[in-house]
Amino acid sequence: MKKTVFITGASSGFGRETVKLFHQKGWNVIATMRSPENETELFELNDVLVGRLDVTDKDSIKSAVEQGMAKFGRIDVLVNNAGYGALGAMEAATEEQVKQQFDVNFFGLIAVTKAVLPVMRQQKSGVIINVSSVGGRVTFPFASLYHASKFAVEGLTESMQYELNPLGIRMKIVEPGGYKTEFSGRSMTLIGADGPEVYKEVFNKFIAMLEHWPMSENIGEVADVIYGAATDGTETLRYPVGPDALQLVEARRQMDDVEFKKMMTAQTAL
Ligand code: NAP
Repeated sequence: MKKTVFITGASSGFGRETVKLFHQKGWNVIATMRSPENETELFELNDVLVGRLDVTDKDSIKSAVEQGMAKFGRIDVLVNNAGYGALGAMEAATEEQVKQQFDVNFFGLIAVTKAVLPVMRQQKSGVIINVSSVGGRVTFPFASLYHASKFAVEGLTESMQYELNPLGIRMKIVEPGGYKTEFSGRSMTLIGADGPEVYKEVFNKFIAMLEHWPMSENIGEVADVIYGAATDGTETLRYPVGPDALQLVEARRQMDDVEFKKMMTAQTAL
């Protein structure tokens, strides 16, 4: 029987690449995005249903799940990929900016998961893959809100295993390092324009440093790992991906808090 994957944030980056990979592998794909009116290419693919879904809009989630079920009749894998990064000093963030970071990266992921779980429970099978980040394991300067949202995703996912494994549903966390997607462009919000002066000089230095941070162009690598997590049939929970992610996770394992902070301060030249 042909399997079906449901993907959020399919307009660009990892989400889009993952749609194409599952399609190539012969799966049905429910490719969801906020603005399907801007999409052309994915509409051309057989057995790819392009649906409108904003993770902060519960009606759009319900309707995308219903449309997917009406067309394919099942959802074997959910890839919670939609997300963005708010960068800047925590004190400088408005309440709205803090809330928005969590509304998308955390509460949005929960809302989509809750909409898909009844389908998987009825099937007595399923895999839920949450796209976190190496930033769900280690922290960089000036990204506290983003890290908080991804650490929350990690804790949520790890604990949900206990309630869902007995129902035949597996949980997976994919943790990419730095990749050249829209993430460092339109999916990055800089906070603090009206915040305290004291942070500005060092934040600007940090942003200048980020512009030279090595970002991999091999987005397909992340899609491959997502596909692997969906199909490997193992109990593995975490899938760091990319040389920088593997290196940072290993460094965090070996170093204590003080050593790790020293290393990160030196690497980011702050
Ligand atoms: P991307 O190309 O910017 O993709 C982000 C996707 O999320 C876009 O499709 C965007 O849709 C969607 N999105 C944002 N807010 C949404 C909302 N409210 N509802 C539904 N969709 C929404 O960046 P990406 O790198 O592929 O990011 C995908 C995931 O990987 C994110 O969770 C990100 O945190 C994570 N990640 C990225 C990196 C990296 O270096 N690229 C590293 C680690 C983790 P629109 O087109 O409508 O804006």
